[in-house]
Order: sequence, then structure tokens, then C-alpha cells
Amino acid sequence: MGIMRGFFIYLSRRRDLEGLFMKFGPTRNLAMRFVAGEKLEDAIRVVAELNKKKIFGTLDHLGENVNSEEEATRAADEYLRILDEIEKNKIKSHASLKLTQMGLDIDSDFCLDNVRRVVERAARYNNFVRIDMEDSSYTDRTLEIFFKLHEEFGNHVGIVIQAYLYRSEDDIKELIKVGANVRLCKGAYKEPPEVAFPKKKDVDANYIKLMKMLLDAHEKGVHTAIATHDENIINFALNYVKSNSIPEGKYEFQMLYGIRRDLQFKLADKGYTMRVYIPYGTEWYPYFMRRLAERPANVFFVVKNLFKG
Ligand SMILES: Cc1cc2nc3c(=O)[nH]c(=O)nc-3n(C[C@H](O)[C@H](O)[C@H](O)COP(=O)(O)OP(=O)(O)OC[C@H]3O[C@@H](n4cnc5c(N)ncnc54)[C@H](O)[C@@H]3O)c2cc1C
Repeated sequence: MGIMRGFFIYLSRRRDLEGLFMKFGPTRNLAMRFVAGEKLEDAIRVVAELNKKKIFGTLDHLGENVNSEEEATRAADEYLRILDEIEKNKIKSHASLKLTQMGLDIDSDFCLDNVRRVVERAARYNNFVRIDMEDSSYTDRTLEIFFKLHEEFGNHVGIVIQAYLYRSEDDIKELIKVGANVRLCKGAYKEPPEVAFPKKKDVDANYIKLMKMLLDAHEKGVHTAIATHDENIINFALNYVKSNSIPEGKYEFQMLYGIRRDLQFKLADKGYTMRVYIPYGTEWYPYFMRRLAERPANVFFVVKNLFKG
């Protein structure tokens, strides 16, 4: 892992520094490139604009690692509001949530009940909730909760697999058995070499391998969300779906709000399903620090603006 990447991931976990960064103008301005705004209404507006360009959304209310039941219950309530507003505004969007925001650090069963309320609402609207994947200390519990909810609600709930983890190939085999809807990403957390490939080229190679496994399982009901901004992987995927006649409804591309908009529009224009992950809310600090970790060039943008005064 590069020094810069390690440094920003370290900062993302230093929640005591959060206040300092959040008040600091240039950091805040840069963060707003990756966040739709502080309120749900801001995010709804962004989705409506993207929908006009044939791009779908998945809304994320920022927040993670909550440690009180009240906070976790409020977070789930906010997701009910997200699903209600999507329905009311007739916009095309799913929702994405993190289990540590729903109380996973407090108690697994409490968390499951909380998320169940959200997935139940999504199912009622014939919509969909994706459970994001956090660091590897949560992988087992996250998959366990996913499988339980999948048994109850089928493909109204989906999961994320990170290509940097060694275990992911085995996890994907289990997910294929139930015909799951899987978002494949590279992985955004700091992981030790005992659990994750330390080298980018190995992560990229594993991404391709896992992506092929998922796409090949389309006849078993598997839906693959190819979540990356990596053009080499995207080009590989485009060739693969074509030469293997993978039906259109069985896969989609996903990118993060504010990153590679050019590519988002290009893929949507060509008729591919393109979905953008749209975070909103006031708790943007750890999300933003992970985005800096992925691309230290973003930091120079902050520094440049510092000198502009
Ligand atoms: C829709 C979506 C959902 C995700 N959900 C999860 C999740 O649940 N759990 C999880 O661990 N991770 C998640 N991630 C993050 C993911 O794991 C990676 O950290 C992130 O996508 C960067 O990797 P990359 O695949 O784009 O490839 P990289 O090789 O890192 O980047 C490829 C190119 O993309 C561009 N790029 C990438 N990141 C940035 C950035 N921050 N700023 C500007 N340009 C950038 C650059 O041009 C770069 O050269 C998600 C990503 C996406 C797109």
C-alpha cells in the first residue's frame, strides 16, 4: 500500500480529527465534489438530473460505526424516507447502506431487525437495497445478515464483494448458489497482507477473475454490478459480455458520484445500464478520506486551493 493511501485511510479512522477537517473550507469544497449535498432533497434533485441523462442512482445516507441504538434506528428511519421519496418523486434509484450505520457494532440481531425494516419497505415498492461491504472484520457478519434477508426478500436485497480479499472467490461461489445480486468492487479499506492482496496488479487480476465467475452465472439468476472507474477493466467487461452473449438485464456498470463523469455519460449514451452511487448527508468525513486515499492527486487540488486563499 502506498504511503499516501495508508495515510488517508488512517485519517479516515481518526474521527477525533473530523471536526477540524469539516470546518476547513478547502477540504469541505473538495468533499462536496463527491457528495450530493447535506439533505435528501439535494440528493433527489441530483438523481432526477442524472435520470434525464439515462443514468440510474443508488442513494447513500452518509454515516457509519454508530454506537447507540437511537442513532441506528434514526439511520434506518432515514432509509425509509429515502425509499418513500424515490417512489413519490418517480425517480429511478436504489438505496445503499452500511451495516455499521444500522447498529452492527452494537448487536447483530438488532442490526438485522433494523435493516429488515428497510428491505421490507423496498420490497413493498418493488425497489432494491444494496448492503455495502466494510472492512474485513465485518465480512462474515455482513454476509450472514445478507443471506438471512435474501431468504426472506429474494433479490430486493443485494451485497458487495471486494476483489482485494483472498476469501472473495469462495464467497462468490456461495452467492452464486442463491442467484444473488452482487456488486463487485476492488475494496476501499486498509487490510493486512494476511487477508488481502497487497499489490494492485493482483487485485486487478482477481477482479477480472471474479467478474467472469459472476457474469458466467447469469443463468442461475446472478446479477453483476461492475463497480469500478478502471477503464481497462470496463473495456474487458464490454468485450466479455459481447463475446459471451451475456443478456443486458444481467449486469450493469456502477461508479461513484463525482468520479469519471465523462465515462458515466459515455456508457449510458451507448445504451449500457449505468448507475451512480450518490452519497448525501453531513457525515462525509470518512467517505471523503477514502476517496482521497484512492487518488492522492485529489489532495493536490486541496493544497492548490489553499494557496489561492
Ligand atoms: C458504485 C461503487 C460502490 C462501491 N462500494 C464499495 C463498498 O461497498 N465497499 C468497498 O470497500 N468499496 C466500495 N467501492 C470503492 C471501491 O472499492 C474502490 O475503492 C474505488 O472504486 C476505486 O477503485 P477503482 O475500481 O475505481 O479502481 P482504481 O484502480 O483505484 O482507479 C481507476 C481509475 O479511476 C479513477 N479514480 C478512482 N478513484 C478515484 C477517486 N477517488 N478520485 C478520482 N478519480 C478516481 C482514476 O482515474 C483511476 O486511475 C465502491 C465503488 C463504486 C464505484
